[in-house]
Amino acid sequence: MYPGIGGSEGKLRELRHDPLRRRWVIVSTERSRRPSDYLGGRDREPPLAGECFFCAGHEEETPAELWALRPDGSSPDGPGWQVRVVPNKYPALRRDLRPARRAEGPWDMIEGYGAHEVVVESPDHGADLADAETPAVQRVLFAYRERMRVMYADPAVRYVQVFRNHRVEAGASVRHPHSQLIATPIIPETLEAEYHTTANHYLLKERCLLCDMLAYERAVGRRLVADYGDFVVLAPYASGAPYELLILPALHHSDFTAADDAAMSRLARVLGDTLGRLKRLLSDPPYNYFLHTGPPPGSGPRPGYWEHLPHAFHWHLELVPRLGVWGGFEWGTAIPINQTSPEEAAEQLREGGKENG
Ligand SMILES: [Zn+2]
Ligand SMILES: [Zn+2]
Ligand SMILES: [Zn+2]
Repeated sequence: MYPGIGGSEGKLRELRHDPLRRRWVIVSTERSRRPSDYLGGRDREPPLAGECFFCAGHEEETPAELWALRPDGSSPDGPGWQVRVVPNKYPALRRDLRPARRAEGPWDMIEGYGAHEVVVESPDHGADLADAETPAVQRVLFAYRERMRVMYADPAVRYVQVFRNHRVEAGASVRHPHSQLIATPIIPETLEAEYHTTANHYLLKERCLLCDMLAYERAVGRRLVADYGDFVVLAPYASGAPYELLILPALHHSDFTAADDAAMSRLARVLGDTLGRLKRLLSDPPYNYFLHTGPPPGSGPRPGYWEHLPHAFHWHLELVPRLGVWGGFEWGTAIPINQTSPEEAAEQLREGGKENG
């Protein structure tokens, strides 16, 4: 059996917009959840290697693969793969719904059009990106790039979110190493804020805000975790969570899907290193990471859509260890209380996070 990975399958699948909060939510009812399912969910253990549908040899237990790296030329949906992408069996959004937009009283609604895919990162159940060799991390990044290119070719898609949940506390329901992609027919609120802010900064100054931030952090140094020359890892000045990190290319690039193989290889090393530092310093903490990218040129509903973003937006990967839970103040105000300063976090990750350190 192949349970959903944080997605769902059911009768209702809608995006609803709340103008009061200026926020989209996905309402996706799955297998008619009852109150007790939410209580039980907290102690549920993910399946072990022997019964895992993502392990090599269990390919027929997942939906048919969409993409895979098979250096031995093996045929789809059998063993022989290094990285494998399959549809999420219980998708939060799906392609068979029309992305029609309509008003519902003061709210807006779109049928739950989109895509939800799982990147199975390795045939090995116990593999971990934090310990993997650079080529293994690079293969995962290739999968992100290839699937994003396919998703962005659909003019109804406005945004593609790549993300990884590590451990149950960060939302992973399956232990086998995997990432996910969800394509949405709207720009999520977080990205809309980043797109607008960077576009305004660019229109005013003809500079990229993230390039400005990066130059400042390099000059100051206190929040730099590692500078690889072409990529930089830093603890953001206003980090909302302990050991929150930002990975970004040192040169200005807006669109992750345009990155070449050499850049992917360099990023793979940086990402593997960074996950290794966190694993050593914080004993394999739960974390989420997510990629924020500008749309590829020519994507979207019309010419000139977000036309400033190639200059204004700078793709980056945000990495957030899940070391605490939000309380009433955080939920009420969206102001996180972070009990580790980013300066302290950067210093510890520079020193204590060193290999053999
Ligand atoms: Zn497995
Ligand atoms: Zn930039
Ligand atoms: Zn961002």
